[in-house]
Amino acid sequence: MKLALQNDMAITNDDVRQLDRSYVFHSWSMQGNLNPMVIAGAKGCELWDYDGNTYLDFSSQLVNVNIGYQHPRVLAAMKAQLDELVTIAPATANLARGEAAKRIVELAPKGFSKVFFTNAGADANENAIRMARMFTGRDKVFSAYRSYHGNTGSAIAATGDWRRVPNEYSRGHVHFFNPYLYRSEFNATTEEEECARALAHLRRMIEVEGPNAIAAILLESIPGTAGILVPPKGYMQGVRELATEFGIMLILDEVMAGFGRTGKWFAFEHDGIVPDLITFAKGVNAGYVPAGGVLISEPIARYFDDHFFAGGLTYSGHPLAMAAIVATLDAMKEEKVVENAAAIGDGVLRPGLEALAEKHPLIGHVRGVGLFQAMELVTSREKKTPVTAADMAKIKTALVNAGLLPFVVENRIHVVPPCTVSAEQVQQGLAIFDRVLGEFAGLVG
Ligand code: PLP
Repeated sequence: MKLALQNDMAITNDDVRQLDRSYVFHSWSMQGNLNPMVIAGAKGCELWDYDGNTYLDFSSQLVNVNIGYQHPRVLAAMKAQLDELVTIAPATANLARGEAAKRIVELAPKGFSKVFFTNAGADANENAIRMARMFTGRDKVFSAYRSYHGNTGSAIAATGDWRRVPNEYSRGHVHFFNPYLYRSEFNATTEEEECARALAHLRRMIEVEGPNAIAAILLESIPGTAGILVPPKGYMQGVRELATEFGIMLILDEVMAGFGRTGKWFAFEHDGIVPDLITFAKGVNAGYVPAGGVLISEPIARYFDDHFFAGGLTYSGHPLAMAAIVATLDAMKEEKVVENAAAIGDGVLRPGLEALAEKHPLIGHVRGVGLFQAMELVTSREKKTPVTAADMAKIKTALVNAGLLPFVVENRIHVVPPCTVSAEQVQQGLAIFDRVLGEFAGLVG
């Protein structure tokens, strides 16, 4: 289907951009000087515009299109659901909703039994926090400075990054520093030191804030937007032990890291721990229809058998989103998409990024797991001076002009292609990085 702008005239990028700039208000922006990229269509790991340009996607949009674009099986399931029943209230029992919940529970660790569906990741965190508060009868929520948890009341107040500051209206939020050895807050020089000091800091924070007042620790299993900060070995186990010791619920935010991105269904599987609540969205159906949710462990689920849950959403478990979840998860299993993320991410992409770092002094640090990788760009490796925002914008433009859609945050390039990416496509993307980073070698001083 084509949405014609004027009669049958061919649509151009400029037409679509002008339409956008006339009527669309964008997220996280000053509206005045926006120049949004125009995308007309996509398939697999490739996108194209109206002017004949094609792009290899190394962003998965906002790290959500894990299964790639226009997956035929997911589209077919959505079309079938459209014909059967497109919308129904959350209080009803619905086949697609039940099947989606069953599949998600089956992927979770033993001891998880129910799913509460939301519209996206922010309200998943919102409702996980609410459940932890009701279950414990406590109020405070701990979360990390280097984090993003979404743009609603408690989720944005729990967020650590700059987006929290103009939005802090929700009560009871306390922040702590999570580990990040490359720019350690603890003067650590080894992973072991960073881990031990970050855990000691968290214990002290819990003690001084009053353990009996703390409902939950909310953490991204691997902080994503904050920089793909894979926690040092032992950190997540240490957080789990602290939470257990003080009767605090551990909520792991798997919105970005979950559903295959790291080469496992859930990123916390790398640490061998089990949280009390898990939040998810994005990859669960690759964002084909907005959806998220809270995976609830048995004790909390049982608590709400005879305690009123004071929360709900008109579109909780929307059938179209649920059909997309069922088909996405089934296709991911059959096509071994999670295994592909591990094999291509750890076996091809990561060594390729490390080889680039050997060659380009602009790359200060490479880190990540599976297809969740990041390069931190610096003008001095010794001083770790971040490349400026203006220069990052130029690098981004050069990558796009070379046919690669990157995910750029601050001085980092997050390398996060769809989990269906092939080794050849990764090599193609690495070659573009190589060429473009070479053009900017002069930034290193
Ligand atoms: N949690 C994490 C870790 C995220 O990365 C995001 C979005 O990027 C969210 C929550 C919020 O999800 P949404 O934008 O779907 O509300």
